[in-house]
Amino acid sequence: MNDQEISPSCLNHKEKLSHNGNLFIITAPSGAGKTTLCKAVLDRIPDMLYSVSYTTRKPRKGEQNEIDYYFITEDDFKNRIKNGKWAEWAKVYGNYYGTSSEFIDKGLASGSDILLDIDFQGTLQILDRYHDSITIFIMPPSLDILKLRLESRGTDSKHVISRRIEVANKEMENKDFYRHVVINDNLSVAVADLISIVEKYRTQVSHTSIQQKL
Ligand code: 5GP
Repeated sequence: MNDQEISPSCLNHKEKLSHNGNLFIITAPSGAGKTTLCKAVLDRIPDMLYSVSYTTRKPRKGEQNEIDYYFITEDDFKNRIKNGKWAEWAKVYGNYYGTSSEFIDKGLASGSDILLDIDFQGTLQILDRYHDSITIFIMPPSLDILKLRLESRGTDSKHVISRRIEVANKEMENKDFYRHVVINDNLSVAVADLISIVEKYRTQVSHTSIQQKL
């Protein structure tokens, strides 16, 4: 098990759960295998909701609207900022990304657990709003392997890859802020680690709900 438990003082995990569902935040430098890991969790835990983000970035080859992202225009995105529609939003690599507050609030209120795949800036905003969120950072084994993965994905230019590596390096400095860190060296080990973290909190919630009912 290569997961480390981290408890930064700024997070009050003992706070009473304010929602019925759990919010799981997953952050990783691109190329760390986050998409594969998220899919594995969703396959294994079918009642977990996935928050499909909105973005102004153009779809990559094979990406589908409403499944990978809601691909929207910059005007639309900015209007939603004005109208307070985002639980969090950020500009990443020159494009806007955001999470719908309506989706999160409805999901949690109905008792669902939700998985968010967002960056560090978004994580801070979500924690500000949903204090009990469970934060998980996915680490690639090394920057060299990350570079190889990005190159073999073949979706980004050399320039974009070197920019992503630069950003990844910076993002990895934030890992200690997260409650859990999973190193994606061996995929099946990383999937097992991630699922055991998620299951741990899901069990805790059912205990809390049972206690509240008694
Ligand atoms: P990509 O364009 O490679 O799919 O994602 C680029 C980065 O944007 C990733 O680090 C990803 O976690 C982040 N990201 C994706 N959706 C959101 C979102 O809704 N909010 C925030 N803050 N970041 C996001």
